[in-house]
Amino acid sequence: MAVSNRHLLQIEGMHPPQISSLLDLAESYVLLNRSGKTQRDLLRGRTLINLFFEDSTRTRTSFELAGKRLGADVINMSVSTSSVNKGETLLDTAATLNAMMCDLLVVRHSQSGAPNLLAQKVDAAVINAGDGTHEHPTQALLDALTIRRRRGRLEGLKIAICGDVLHSRVARSNIHLLSAMGSRVRVVGPPTLIPAECERLGVEVFHDMAQGLRDCDVVMALRLQRERMTGGQVPSAREYFRFYGLDFEKLSHAKPDALVMHPGPMNRGVEIDSAVADDPVRSVIKEQVEMGVAVRMAVLDVLARANRRNV
Ligand code: ASP
Repeated sequence: MAVSNRHLLQIEGMHPPQISSLLDLAESYVLLNRSGKTQRDLLRGRTLINLFFEDSTRTRTSFELAGKRLGADVINMSVSTSSVNKGETLLDTAATLNAMMCDLLVVRHSQSGAPNLLAQKVDAAVINAGDGTHEHPTQALLDALTIRRRRGRLEGLKIAICGDVLHSRVARSNIHLLSAMGSRVRVVGPPTLIPAECERLGVEVFHDMAQGLRDCDVVMALRLQRERMTGGQVPSAREYFRFYGLDFEKLSHAKPDALVMHPGPMNRGVEIDSAVADDPVRSVIKEQVEMGVAVRMAVLDVLARANRRNV
């Protein structure tokens, strides 16, 4: 996988065949999960530690379920970083986990690059579950699986990623993955929330939702990441919703059957209208959650096979 075969740290650098084969494997786990069967021998006797320095609902739970469905012993560690030096904590933690002979380490951290640092210090296979504003690779994989299942392909699709792109690791991973797979990615948001690197990444930039959504196959709304903002980047929530909140009027500029996605957690009435989020035909938000478990099973499976000595 990206950087090395031992870890999953980022999408950037992954090749299309690697991505496709992970999605194919995840597809088989969707079927397994739907059949109610499990494959508990794959990670039997192995230990997976969920190490979360930041809040999470979906990601942590789905890694836990994925690990358990493959037979791993799963341990959840939530670590508060509020009062400690993050760098020191991370290295101390690495030493502790190494001594525990953990096989798979799923890490979420508020600082970009923290999982890479851990990967250099521990023997376990490290999986990035979201680091600062850098990447959230399994989210991009589950988004791609959701789109591919609905549309049968990724290539040539017009995909709009809307809202707070600047602070979004989900956007960054998605831009890398979808561009690599031949989708035409565009970002839509206020100038204060669109990073300069978008143009370097070959992504089209729009500041107007009507223009940005025109003829899109997929519209992905992003949460305003207020916890990462330093101030003044957005007007009031009401004002923001008026210009950038995804409602049916704005969605009408996309293709009539365009899919609506959101990585969660949603701020209803801020970046997305409840009626759109809950629309049973257009919204695939719940399906994204289901795909999350299957994708994480596929990632654990591949890393287990690639790290036979450790895992
Ligand atoms: N759950 C996603 C993340 O951890 C998106 C978000 O928090 O808005 O990046």
